[in-house]
Amino acid sequence: MNQAEQLLAEAKRLEAEWKKVKQQLAKLQSECEHDFARGQLSMTCRKCLYTESTYY
Ligand SMILES: [Zn+2]
Repeated sequence: MNQAEQLLAEAKRLEAEWKKVKQQLAKLQSECEHDFARGQLSMTCRKCLYTESTYY
């Protein structure tokens, strides 16, 4: 395997891992009873870090 193939394989592995982690976070956030801290442009949940824009 040359270096480019190794890097491509690594990128694919990380992409799969990234998707898995994002799904875990989305699940956690969908099940969270949010406790928002209000910022200037957005509100962020203290528990799951879900962010909602308050800037329209
Ligand atoms: Zn939350």
